Amino acid sequence: MEKEVSFKELKSKIAGLGDIDIEKKKEIICTFIGHSLIQTSCFGYKYCGRCGEQVGDSLGGIWYDAEKAVLAGHNCKTCRANFKKLSWREKLYCRNPFAKNYDKSKYILTLSSNPLK
Ligand SMILES: [Zn+2]
Ligand SMILES: [Zn+2]
Repeated sequence: MEKEVSFKELKSKIAGLGDIDIEKKKEIICTFIGHSLIQTSCFGYKYCGRCGEQVGDSLGGIWYDAEKAVLAGHNCKTCRANFKKLSWREKLYCRNPFAKNYDKSKYILTLSSNPLK
């Protein structure tokens, strides 16, 4: 199995791509570290909170990370507890799932922040 990419490695990989669009950057980050467990939900469909790709369909019974996911705007006990377990991999370029104004809230973490802080 391939070794997991560290924050530092990811940062240099992304920097090596030059000046790219933020949306493109988020997609590339997901290909390196996987989709975020912070997810948005729309009519049963679940989307990655970072790149927006569909990661599940709870009506169709396809939602692998159901127990670990944090749904934006959900704010329930499970989501709150799950959020505490998330690492920088899930938070990078994702918005605060508990923010009142989710779509306009700031990213929890960006590549210029220090994830160990
Ligand atoms: Zn993603
Ligand atoms: Zn919830």
